[in-house]
Amino acid sequence: MPVSLATWKHGFQPNRISYEALLAGSPALDAVEAGAKYCEADITCMSVGRGGLPDATGILTLDASIMDHEGNCGSVAFVQRYEHVISIARRVMEKTPHVMLAGTGAEAFAEREGFPQTELLTEKAKAYYSEWLKQPDRLQVRLRRASEGEHEYVFVHVDENGKETEAHEQNGRISRLAEASHDTIGVLAMDSAGHLAGACTTSGLAFKLHGRVGDSPIIGAGLYVDGKVAAAVATGDGELMMRACSAFHVVEMVRQGVEPGEALERALKRIRQDHHLTPDKQCGLMVIRADGVWAARSLRPGFQLAAASSQLQDKNVLHDVTKRGITVTTI
Ligand code: ASP
Repeated sequence: MPVSLATWKHGFQPNRISYEALLAGSPALDAVEAGAKYCEADITCMSVGRGGLPDATGILTLDASIMDHEGNCGSVAFVQRYEHVISIARRVMEKTPHVMLAGTGAEAFAEREGFPQTELLTEKAKAYYSEWLKQPDRLQVRLRRASEGEHEYVFVHVDENGKETEAHEQNGRISRLAEASHDTIGVLAMDSAGHLAGACTTSGLAFKLHGRVGDSPIIGAGLYVDGKVAAAVATGDGELMMRACSAFHVVEMVRQGVEPGEALERALKRIRQDHHLTPDKQCGLMVIRADGVWAARSLRPGFQLAAASSQLQDKNVLHDVTKRGITVTTI
């Protein structure tokens, strides 16, 4: 009966932690929090928690949200100096009458609750930021996966027609960003009692404008759980998911009887229809229905997720989401 899913390759170990917690009898809420926390502390993941890439002013700000099967939810946005924003979000859910705290208010709450302050920016993230500062026309610069599977990234300029050009340093060498990654972690789980929960935590878009908040802490955009229906999480271009309320949209379609995979396809179709999509835009969606059936889809190839379930013989398996559905890669 237990099921656990986590977005991207960097979700592999977090998903193992989440699934092992489920097998040991933990509630889904504890399992997703434990998985998310692992990623927040993993400095090799440059898009979540400590080790993430900063905003355009060189400051790292974190967003997170969590939701249980009873519709309880908590979130924090624009948090600096605290590593485990997912646990602060959970504390907001459990100890306050509110759903969301932001910025200095969220940090003051974290301090009162005894969360330790941490220096979030690593030397490696600082080096990437310095490299980004050297790029001309910086706001147009995006990170693009340079070689699949090797975690290599390059800076690219994207013009208004979506044409990508690799950015070059002054000496003509392509600015290669080794071992970076740039995506949120979303963890969804169903425990042995059949309860669903979800967690979503991120440092957001690299080199974003100072003050920018993405979809991850927005209930209904980055994450939505209805314990009787489904749990859904989104990753990718947060502005798209905020405009489309993607996680909520998926859960509502499942409520109306649409099959999980089809619900994801329809949510992506809506995004394609309603928004101008440049080639650098990606959106990955995952869902677990209340009976444990799960699905994942993305706007473009390249989205990966880790999945573990009794149907997978309790194994944790990395899946590639291709255009036609999912191909399985075991690692
Ligand atoms: N959705 C996140 C954001 O826009 C980023 C990501 O998932 O890559 O902040």
